[in-house]
Amino acid sequence: MPTCLVTGGAGFLGSHLCDELLARGHRVICIDNLETGSLQNITHIRDSEQFKFLHCDIIEPYFVDEPVDFVYHLASPASPIDYLRLPLHTLKVGSYGTHHTLGLAKAKRARFLLASTSEVYGDPQQHPQSESYWGHVNPIGPRGVYDEAKRYAEALTMAYRRQQGVDTAIVRIFNTYGARMRPRDGRAIPTFLRQALQDRPLTVFGDGSQTRSFCYVSDLIRGLIALAESGYHEPVNIGNPDEFTLLELAEVVLEVTDTSAEIVFDALPTDDPKQRRPDITLAGELLGWKPQVALRDGLKLTIEHSGTDVLAG
Ligand code: NAD
Repeated sequence: MPTCLVTGGAGFLGSHLCDELLARGHRVICIDNLETGSLQNITHIRDSEQFKFLHCDIIEPYFVDEPVDFVYHLASPASPIDYLRLPLHTLKVGSYGTHHTLGLAKAKRARFLLASTSEVYGDPQQHPQSESYWGHVNPIGPRGVYDEAKRYAEALTMAYRRQQGVDTAIVRIFNTYGARMRPRDGRAIPTFLRQALQDRPLTVFGDGSQTRSFCYVSDLIRGLIALAESGYHEPVNIGNPDEFTLLELAEVVLEVTDTSAEIVFDALPTDDPKQRRPDITLAGELLGWKPQVALRDGLKLTIEHSGTDVLAG
């Protein structure tokens, strides 16, 4: 049975990944400093013999005293509220944290998967975004700390592969949602759900015409594991290509929560991308992967698995 190390394993995506790996019979070592994650996300698996939690900040060198077959490197602040609050930490996790984790994968001769992001495409000049697009990122804007940390982490991953022979993979994750997102993490879906369930106005940035695509968490995790278990080394987009304007998303949230709160508009954040949709041709050809959960169904599952009181914050 393979042993998988998951950095950021107590976070939103990391904890779902730990669940799925355990369900598939893998042993899981979860590493997290709990900066934006929480022990609550892993309480239900902490007593499993196949699960180990190490409270550790990967910005410092760290060691694991047992064999490891797969390293899933997810640790990083991920929501704008977090990386704007923690700009230097975000850059350090992407640089030192990724160095230490790649070094560990090298020492263990493990397959390494970097959780990168669609944000490496910045405010894209290509639509939809395919892996061959190099991006359009403002390095000195407030979001630059996240976008550039991930771009650096990608460069580092390729260097460890080319120079050190580490078996690496890179997944570019597009917006993903599901239970265990924090109601106040500032991302659109938890914010709209919280506001709708509190019967408060839904706050849409700008005029709401900017587009996003939203992937349900179980689809994303399936893609992540398929990529880790493939032998592929170049970046692969994983996300749902169904594209919605933010205004449409707000309307769908009102529909599935059966509320009639009003929609209000607020200033657009700096460097907010105007369009976001993955080209998932490569993931389809390489992994036979495509998303299965449509937005309305995923939102209903999120509400069902979270409980309305948790989502309402
Ligand atoms: P999250 O904030 O819920 O999880 C990140 C986890 O990393 C947290 O548990 C946090 O405590 C941990 N962490 C942060 N710094 C650390 C450090 N120095 N040492 C150890 N642990 C540390 O975010 P998420 O949404 O689950 O994102 C997980 C990964 O996926 C991130 O790398 C993020 O960039 C990437 N990603 C997520 C999305 C999305 O839509 N959720 C989209 C693109 C990319």
